[in-house]
Amino acid sequence: MAYDPNNVFARILRGEIPCKKVYEDDFALAFHDIAPQAPVHVLVIPKGAYVSWDDFSKTAPDAEIGGFIRAVGAVARQLGLDEPGYRLLANTGRDGGQEVPHFHIHLFGGRVLGRMVAAD
Ligand code: AMP
Repeated sequence: MAYDPNNVFARILRGEIPCKKVYEDDFALAFHDIAPQAPVHVLVIPKGAYVSWDDFSKTAPDAEIGGFIRAVGAVARQLGLDEPGYRLLANTGRDGGQEVPHFHIHLFGGRVLGRMVAAD
């Protein structure tokens, strides 16, 4: 699938749509999910134009992958989640339930999160 430069996260990256920013560096932007499903529900997105985890893991340069992974960890620590713990999720493609076609990691925390996979 070709990258759609008008997807909602691309527009957030360009500052065309506001977000509740948590963290930003050269590789990543993190902001609160608009419809939180846990006490903490933050999205971490790469600054580069990648459709999905599949696209990112296949085509991003090593520096971008490294920088992004470091950023995800930094966001969790900044939010104080490293000690109690948290969950990362990357919905990918149709069966993964991905709605926004710009790669993103969901970061959930703030309570014991229970079962790992929701059926729907
Ligand atoms: P996914 O199903 O993994 O593609 O998840 C997309 C997520 O983006 C959902 O949890 C939405 O609530 C969230 N979302 C959609 N639009 C916005 C927005 N403008 N600001 C913050 N989060 C958003």
